[in-house]
Amino acid sequence: MKRTESISSAQVLKKTQPEEFDLVILGGGTGSTIAAWTFAGEGKQVAVVERKYIGGSCPNIACLPSKNIIHSAKVASYFRRSKEFGITHDGFAIDMADVRERKRSMVRALNNIYMGNYRNTGAEFILGTGVTNGRCVSSNTESPASASIA
Ligand SMILES: Cc1cc2nc3c(=O)[nH]c(=O)nc-3n(C[C@H](O)[C@H](O)[C@H](O)COP(=O)(O)OP(=O)(O)OC[C@H]3O[C@@H](n4cnc5c(N)ncnc54)[C@H](O)[C@@H]3O)c2cc1C
Repeated sequence: MKRTESISSAQVLKKTQPEEFDLVILGGGTGSTIAAWTFAGEGKQVAVVERKYIGGSCPNIACLPSKNIIHSAKVASYFRRSKEFGITHDGFAIDMADVRERKRSMVRALNNIYMGNYRNTGAEFILGTGVTNGRCVSSNTESPASASIA
């Protein structure tokens, strides 16, 4: 086992040798991460194989980013309508680069919280696309890895 480069700011382990786990989960989305942290917190050997997103779609490309952009749009809307509320201003500009960066920094912060939970519970996060034949899970990380299901 060796430590390699980071994705976002998270530490990721890449496996070079087959390992055994009590539970291997393909995909690190909302439900699976909670299951992984819960079982790992109870002392089980748990691994999550995730091909792309720390925490799955919700914090990376779905719930959080969409609400973040919608919130910026609401602020812009309030500015446009501010006279209705008795507030005047000398115009405003929308800087989409800043809007996007605000969103990205929130996604990064959430990724860090997720990785903190992986560290704290002892569940392992394996970056790669996993496949299973029912008893074995293999992951196409740069160094092929596999985990056998007892
Ligand atoms: C624009 C948008 C906004 C949303 N907003 C909300 C909201 O406000 N509130 C809400 O409750 N829900 C919202 N949702 C729905 C929410 O995002 C989903 O319900 C939730 O993400 C589903 O979680 P999941 O764990 O089932 O799947 P996902 O989060 O999609 O997780 C699946 C993960 O598995 C990985 N994966 C798949 N196959 C493999 C493989 N073979 N090997 C390794 N990894 C693999 C994928 O990369 C992915 O990260 C929104 C969805 C969208 C599209």
